[in-house]
Amino acid sequence: MKTVMYKLPQDADKAYPAAAKALKNGGLVAFPTETVYGLGGNALDPAASKKIYAAKGRPSDNPLIVHIAEKESLYKLVMEVPEKAKKLMDRFWPGPLTIILKKNDTVPLETTGGLDTVAVRMPDHEVALEMIRACGLPIAAPSANTSGRPSPTKAAHVAEDLAGKIDIILDGGDVGIGVESTIIDLSGEPCILRPGYITKDDLEAVIGPVAIDPALENIQSGRLPAGDFKPKAPGMKYRHYAPKAPLTLVTGSRQEAKKTLLKLLAKAKAEGKRCAVICEFYKDFEGKADVIYALGSRDDTLSISRQIYDVLRDTDRQNVDAIFADDFGLDSDGHFGYAVQNRLMKAAGGKLL
Ligand code: AMP
Ligand code: MG
Repeated sequence: MKTVMYKLPQDADKAYPAAAKALKNGGLVAFPTETVYGLGGNALDPAASKKIYAAKGRPSDNPLIVHIAEKESLYKLVMEVPEKAKKLMDRFWPGPLTIILKKNDTVPLETTGGLDTVAVRMPDHEVALEMIRACGLPIAAPSANTSGRPSPTKAAHVAEDLAGKIDIILDGGDVGIGVESTIIDLSGEPCILRPGYITKDDLEAVIGPVAIDPALENIQSGRLPAGDFKPKAPGMKYRHYAPKAPLTLVTGSRQEAKKTLLKLLAKAKAEGKRCAVICEFYKDFEGKADVIYALGSRDDTLSISRQIYDVLRDTDRQNVDAIFADDFGLDSDGHFGYAVQNRLMKAAGGKLL
């Protein structure tokens, strides 16, 4: 299959009609959102959902998020919309918040990985919204990467993984946030299944107490869920966001982290390894690592989150044997830094020093 790439907004005249046609015909279109690029198909068509799983190489028990362009569209997908969901939609949609509710019969089990709940969000990106409006369908979309690889934050990342496997890529430039949406389950008592830009504090300010899936705490503390441990968001159980070379994550204050990283690098270099370091400042590691990714001050979490997946992907191209990364400051679960750390912990497969 030939994958056609359109640049937005320049190619708008051609891009939206072509995307709408492909989606209505059961095809797949990758598109930018404010979080990461998504791989979209008609959420109401079981065959389209199957194609998404096949293109990504994703296990079919890992449900997809349904993207809509109007808040009202939620009512067509779920049994009921509780008061707390209404409040969160009003406050955070369009935006990086996914809400899980009991699905109705219009949503096929193929889209929800066999679950009787469905995850829905309204993205805050003009290209995503325009595409959904143009086809008039709810769009099932996981991140537009090969399963297990870092999520795509640029159209080039999508092409790297999926060119030849999907119909269209809508190139809307680099994304603004760079980590996936916060997922809150409202099918029972409010519970965060995946941390993101919208934090526990943000959510609690609107609807009161919100729990965190215990599996998340396990990941964060360096104890990845064991085989029989079941996180509520099936996607959280897979090794994820992972570069090819082993990644060791280092925690502590700015000075402590720097000291530990230098020690680890010296040891690995002595063993003849080609090393990459993911750090705050270039000058701290000049001459000490083969590849230096300087992401800037840990005080600017958004700047770090925008860069992190691109950096993890780049390490694969640099043929390094080992990667050492600052965790950019241990953060409480009420802050956005918690989400960035969660992705780094998953990339590290639980190796925290
Ligand atoms: P992705 O957008 O590729 O990061 O994947 C969507 C994520 O949403 C996966 O981690 C899923 O496990 C999670 N998810 C989607 N629908 C549900 C659901 N009904 N219940 C729990 N988790 C869900
Ligand atoms: Mg994903």
